[in-house]
Amino acid sequence: MNKLSKDFPALQTNVGTREIIYVDNASTTQNPKIVTDQISAFYNNGYANVDRGIYALAEETTIAYEDARTKVAQFIGADAQEIIFTKGTTESINFVATAWGLTHLKKGDEIVLTELEHHANLIPWQQVAHKTGAVLKFIPINDDGSLNLDSLDSIITSKTKFVGCIHISNALGTTVDIKKVIAAARAVGAPILIDAAQSVPHIPVDVHSLDCDFLVFSGHKMCGPTGIGVLYIAKRMFESVPPYQFGGSMINHATYQTATFAKPPAKYEAGTPPIAQAIGLAHAIDYLTAQVDFKTLGMHEAGLCSRFIDGLQKMERIRILGPIDQLKKEGHLVSFTVDGLHAHDVAAALDMQGIYVRAGHFCAQPLFTKLGITAAVRASFYFYNSPDQVDALLVAIKKMPVLS
Ligand code: PMP
Repeated sequence: MNKLSKDFPALQTNVGTREIIYVDNASTTQNPKIVTDQISAFYNNGYANVDRGIYALAEETTIAYEDARTKVAQFIGADAQEIIFTKGTTESINFVATAWGLTHLKKGDEIVLTELEHHANLIPWQQVAHKTGAVLKFIPINDDGSLNLDSLDSIITSKTKFVGCIHISNALGTTVDIKKVIAAARAVGAPILIDAAQSVPHIPVDVHSLDCDFLVFSGHKMCGPTGIGVLYIAKRMFESVPPYQFGGSMINHATYQTATFAKPPAKYEAGTPPIAQAIGLAHAIDYLTAQVDFKTLGMHEAGLCSRFIDGLQKMERIRILGPIDQLKKEGHLVSFTVDGLHAHDVAAALDMQGIYVRAGHFCAQPLFTKLGITAAVRASFYFYNSPDQVDALLVAIKKMPVLS
């Protein structure tokens, strides 16, 4: 599977005698040449704005943009009108918090999140809570970083008016049994949003079989460009979700005093959308669909995690975060700390050898506080990473001053 790395020019950059080792894929992935070629062809061949011009080029661009929407919809089992393009996961969640949350939540209503949330699915809800008087509650984690689903019934109750849940943790690698969380939200009639930023690029996700109300992810974590994200809104929510932004492209009829809105998805996409980025994402999905079998991908990534964890466990002073057994079975990232070394120093030392990992709190500061740490190192894998790269990473970690 890692042979596909040949499709990625950025991965062929050499540092010393070997190619770079890019294992920061949970942050963002590299782009295959076929995707960047298509994006430059889109600009070089000429384009027009969507939904506006009568001339052929404008119609062609509109068709390409709407085809991209259909492609995304098919990829996650949605209908095209349920796919809203945003600039990323963060904007998609801010959309739901602002448009739905501020409209429907009131004092005393409970918003349930998990202790694993990325700031993107925490801070917007804090803002909603501050503005409306709603209360935040959290499904706790167990000691190993898995989610404590035994507490579901006591946390998701008739007072719960919204649930937001991460699918796969970017900080610990935990995969959450979201079907259980969705069922608990459904049982009390609370809408549920799934943060699928770390799942859609790695495992098959089907929104209709999940039966969630909102699902969000980013194009740049799945071989697509930056500046494009997806907000899936289940059709049944259209009536209760007002527009997030207002302006051109989203109205049915406007007077100086008032306006009526177009039907979704136009209702939710004010102004010129990220046209080139949406088309780039569609090409990334084409690439993934043609080249990457998700079952093989899952085994490949779990194999890399296993190899990495086995190597780390042979070293002293290393603390692996997250549910180790699950990571070895179905993970795509491993986070750890080195006793006696700051995570930034570990990452800087690896950088000198052309190995790119993430270090910090991974935008999950409350979770890190709970774990009693301020920073960790994370290696996150994708199909283009190889067992040899894991071995090189382990050798480089072992050379750290406190470990060698
Ligand atoms: N949620 C999760 C689980 C993530 O991993 C990330 C990106 N690290 C985000 C949300 C935010 O994504 P973006 O920066 O693309 O908006």
